[in-house]
Amino acid sequence: MEFDVVVVGAGPAGSMAAKYAAKNGARTLLIEEHAMIGSPVSCTGHISVKALNECELPEGNFINKRIRGAFVYAPNYHSIPIDGKRTMTYVVERKIMDREMAKAAASAGAEIWVDTAVRSVKKVNGGVVLEAVSEGKRTEIPAKVVIGADGVKSMVAKSAGLGRIPHVCAGIQVEASYEPRDDEFVEVFLGQRYVPKFFAWAVPTSGDCCRIGLNADSDAHMYLDRLLKEHEIVSKKARGTVDLIMGGIPVGTLKSTVTDGVLIVGDAAGQVKPVSYGGIYMGTRCAKIAGEVAAKAAIEDNVCSARLKEYERRWRGEFGRELAFGLEFRKIFGRMTDEDFNEAVTALDDPEILDMITQYGDIDRPSLLARQFFKLSTKERVWRFVKLFSRVFF
Ligand SMILES: Cc1cc2nc3c(=O)[nH]c(=O)nc-3n(C[C@H](O)[C@H](O)[C@H](O)COP(=O)(O)OP(=O)(O)OC[C@H]3O[C@@H](n4cnc5c(N)ncnc54)[C@H](O)[C@@H]3O)c2cc1C
Repeated sequence: MEFDVVVVGAGPAGSMAAKYAAKNGARTLLIEEHAMIGSPVSCTGHISVKALNECELPEGNFINKRIRGAFVYAPNYHSIPIDGKRTMTYVVERKIMDREMAKAAASAGAEIWVDTAVRSVKKVNGGVVLEAVSEGKRTEIPAKVVIGADGVKSMVAKSAGLGRIPHVCAGIQVEASYEPRDDEFVEVFLGQRYVPKFFAWAVPTSGDCCRIGLNADSDAHMYLDRLLKEHEIVSKKARGTVDLIMGGIPVGTLKSTVTDGVLIVGDAAGQVKPVSYGGIYMGTRCAKIAGEVAAKAAIEDNVCSARLKEYERRWRGEFGRELAFGLEFRKIFGRMTDEDFNEAVTALDDPEILDMITQYGDIDRPSLLARQFFKLSTKERVWRFVKLFSRVFF
């Protein structure tokens, strides 16, 4: 059987793209190289309320914790509480959540093949042919459109001539025994000695366990080891690692996410927030657009790049400015010294400012808070913060 739409990769973006392709009337196949969807996991599973809504799942046993805020620690260990006073984010079990999302795609009408790895994509007249190995046997899968949702190392993007993500950093994390300061709060740690250019986190899961991790351009293992052994807060509490994971995180997007018969979505396209490097919210939102556009184009029998560009226009229209803001913010963040971070955390330690962060903070759209922040710039502490950012920027 020829499929209208084949989606490669059953992560959150792939399952959502398959669901939307099927919902829009396409004969849809979702392919996963692993025998078990959702495993192995490379994720902390910390997502906003909005991101969970985007995943379109009823609350279920994949939710480990509800989180209302964060303690942010400066390099000098001075900390500030940011308290949303209601559920702001969730900690989820990706192993279960990914399977629920795949089941939702199946309920919408998509077929699913596990233990099937796509090896290459050949463009043919009016569509594509995927070469794959399914349950140990080589096979060819003809389709009108392929959606590459195959993660940061996307074979589909490379094989289709769309190139690679400009930069990939490493995310590394352990799950360990760690009594959180408050189990409704995540802990965020700043400091060049432990996380140059990034931040580290401790995210409560269940019982007295946390996922403790960081991002790094290089030497991720060394930095995590140092954080666990030497950081004044973390080293006193973390013990008994039960799980160590590592994965690539895209920084920046593909130049183009569309070519004849091919769309790329999720981490494979670089649809990740540059401020926090979370990819579930943006990936699933863009996947809905990809699924819909792919289905309509396939049914119209017009899968040329010009037709599929609708996807690129729509997702960049929705997220382009936020991505540009995030990448600029990242650059400034990367230039900040420990003294800058100490100064910034002290400047933010003011009830009015913390209230504003609580009110406008949106981990999926941090530019909203930045705009509010500058509106409050008559306040002396905000001025100190703005001056600090300007000094680092220029
Ligand atoms: C340490 C770490 C912590 C993170 N924490 C968070 C967090 O707290 N919140 C958040 O929002 N994001 C987080 N992220 C990022 C998040 O995990 C990704 O953005 C998200 O998983 C991307 O979803 P996706 O569907 O695009 O890709 P993936 O989840 O990577 O799924 C891709 C799928 O494609 C399959 N595949 C790959 N190649 C092939 C092939 N050739 N054939 C068939 N199947 C294939 C893979 O097996 C996989 O199942 C974290 C990342 C890391 C590394």
